[in-house]
Amino acid sequence: MKSIPILYYHNIGGENYKSFCKVDSFKYQMNFMFSRGYKGVGCDNLLIEGGEKLFGITFDDGYEDNLLNALPILKSYNFKATCFIVPNMIGATNSWDKVQFKLMDKIQIKEWLDEGMSIGSHSLNHYDLSRLSTESMSKEIADSKKILEDTFGISIDDFCYPYGKYNLKITKKVKDFGYKRGITTKRGLYKSSDNNYDIKRVPVNRNDSKFKFWLKTMTAYENL
Ligand SMILES: [Zn+2]
Repeated sequence: MKSIPILYYHNIGGENYKSFCKVDSFKYQMNFMFSRGYKGVGCDNLLIEGGEKLFGITFDDGYEDNLLNALPILKSYNFKATCFIVPNMIGATNSWDKVQFKLMDKIQIKEWLDEGMSIGSHSLNHYDLSRLSTESMSKEIADSKKILEDTFGISIDDFCYPYGKYNLKITKKVKDFGYKRGITTKRGLYKSSDNNYDIKRVPVNRNDSKFKFWLKTMTAYENL
């Protein structure tokens, strides 16, 4: 069965910080996939049908630079992507990290959606769910879905585990609360036969060379 990379990024921009992918690198990477006949899709379109060559594009946390820097590039290739939003932090900054960057506000998320992109939940507050009581953990999963659905009038089908932390109790809740997929930070390519609440991705890091990007997307490297 065919497997595809679901790329994941955080910031796209010029800052010299670990979570950033340079705009030029991002442009190179999208062009690399495009010129090989691949179509970039969000998590809602990962199903491989016929001969279509797909790859997933995801952004964690919902930074403003995704809209300002990544969106124009995505649009130029007619690619789609999913951004994982933290509802209680909309328009604020990533308080969970040492260095702060602006997250999209409501109007910006609306613009992201209007351009044909999608969003998923990244929990209510970006806590490590594996350290919460069952009650608090459930709330993070259920309420974030409801807030995003009520605010933007769309169905939220994807949940991305904060810090990549999850266990069977958490994946069960994600499923029970009606999400269709649970997205991890575990390395690996995606196959449609995979457990949908344990979806692996391919991290794209700041210093990945062109060769490394080729390895990650065109070979089984991420499955090793
Ligand atoms: Zn995150």
